[in-house]
Amino acid sequence: MPETAPTGSYSRLTPGDAGFVEAVSGGLFNSLRVDGEPDAVVVPRTEADVVAIVRDAARTATKVAIRSGGHSWVASSVREGSILVDLAAFDAIDVDVEARTARVGPAVRGQRLSKELVAHGLAFPVGHCGNPALGGFLLGGGLGVNWGHWLPSCFSIRSMRVVLSSGEVVVASETSNPELFWLARGSGPGFPGIVTEFELDLQPLPAAIRLSSWMFALADLAAVTSWVTRVSAALPSNVEVSLVVAGPQRPGASADSEPFIVGVVATAFTADEAEAAEALHAFATDRGPGVSPLEYLDAVPVAFDTVHEAVDATYPEGYRYLADTFWSPLDLGAALEPLAELITRAPSGVSYILSGMPKNGDGANLVPKGVAAYGMHDKTLVVPYVIWADESDDAANLAWLNELRAVLEPVSSGHFMSEADLRHDASRVSRSFAGDDGERVLRLIRQFDPDSLFCGFPRPAGVAEPTP
Ligand SMILES: Cc1cc2nc3c(=O)[nH]c(=O)nc-3n(C[C@H](O)[C@H](O)[C@H](O)COP(=O)(O)OP(=O)(O)OC[C@H]3O[C@@H](n4cnc5c(N)ncnc54)[C@H](O)[C@@H]3O)c2cc1C
Repeated sequence: MPETAPTGSYSRLTPGDAGFVEAVSGGLFNSLRVDGEPDAVVVPRTEADVVAIVRDAARTATKVAIRSGGHSWVASSVREGSILVDLAAFDAIDVDVEARTARVGPAVRGQRLSKELVAHGLAFPVGHCGNPALGGFLLGGGLGVNWGHWLPSCFSIRSMRVVLSSGEVVVASETSNPELFWLARGSGPGFPGIVTEFELDLQPLPAAIRLSSWMFALADLAAVTSWVTRVSAALPSNVEVSLVVAGPQRPGASADSEPFIVGVVATAFTADEAEAAEALHAFATDRGPGVSPLEYLDAVPVAFDTVHEAVDATYPEGYRYLADTFWSPLDLGAALEPLAELITRAPSGVSYILSGMPKNGDGANLVPKGVAAYGMHDKTLVVPYVIWADESDDAANLAWLNELRAVLEPVSSGHFMSEADLRHDASRVSRSFAGDDGERVLRLIRQFDPDSLFCGFPRPAGVAEPTP
């Protein structure tokens, strides 16, 4: 047998094969393509296939890149000269209602998991958008629904099955391979293994979810941020508040709409009517922002498995995207006000800036310390999404994001890796970990993948692989 022949039964496409281009690009959410092409795309059906793929790759010294749902903003599954392992077939869900746990494949999308769990009266902190898969979402920490109360989603992983670079299959949990488990909860695209299954802790379904929203003119930003900051301090942790600064092509806007707006959404994840009313009480008793909203929804009921729909609408399919993230110790007003003029100059009216104060202002203390690689957190999170349609507008949109970065970088304490622009600057990765954890992450990656079989963190062009 020639040295390069695969030993497993998995399917394999190489450049020139019919379907290769679609296999590389078809599963990516972002239409903005990165440079680089894999040598092959392989589609395993079983864990034994994954083991065979990893062993074949090690034997031929070919690097391995991984895809579960293709929602990495920076297409971290597309790496020059690698084997792209597409885990789409790993999409099983097995719920143990009594134990309140589930075994799920990494390719399961958040919206599908929610539907399945709701039928059992259960829930999981899936992402705010319905479509990302659990694989990348959970490894990156997972800022899911109700995370000020349920914590980032990686803290709800009980255990996971991992194929290591040696081809060995191990279980990682707090008691089995605890260092691998520490690493898996937050190292995102740097994780040195292939997860074939997660075991998750579930939550009782919040039976009364109530959503209030307000839309104001952008000119009222200062009044709105100071009102939201004040009210947030009195909200319980199961009310999640987000604030967007958006332009004329936001979902639902027409030619007659106010072009630039500030939107506020408060969602209460509660067990019953009484708790819902109590949870949102601080909005009713506060004196308000002192400016009139253009639109207002008052505590409308929402089903858990449809909460993502309004968010999905803000990420239209088929567009080109640049996303970046900035944690900041500043409050909402100080973080956002310098951006107000910039949004009016965005080359695309679809782009917007999302922000929030996790746990309603106590985000710096939300995440358990030292328990997992995911630990970078602060008071305010600001996430610009730059969204446009035409390749000819790439340079203008990148230049606009660079203007935002020039304002945000000096006041930022770190980044959220899953939505940071890892191909922009290598410090996006190192500043996504708390304290000295970045060093520990690199050391553990080297320990579990001594020959660097896995592609690891996406990097800017020309930047070498980081070493501990
Ligand atoms: C529209 C949109 C909305 C989003 N909203 C949120 C949100 O609300 N909260 C949030 O936290 N994030 C959010 N994200 C970011 C998202 O969680 C990450 O991009 C995540 O990596 C997507 O997971 P995926 O499996 O679909 O991605 P993929 O592109 O398939 O995977 C990304 C990388 O993760 C690693 N990986 C994935 N699966 C495995 C596996 N099984 N084993 C080992 N490594 C693996 C690989 O390195 C892979 O290249 C959003 C992204 C998009 C595009």
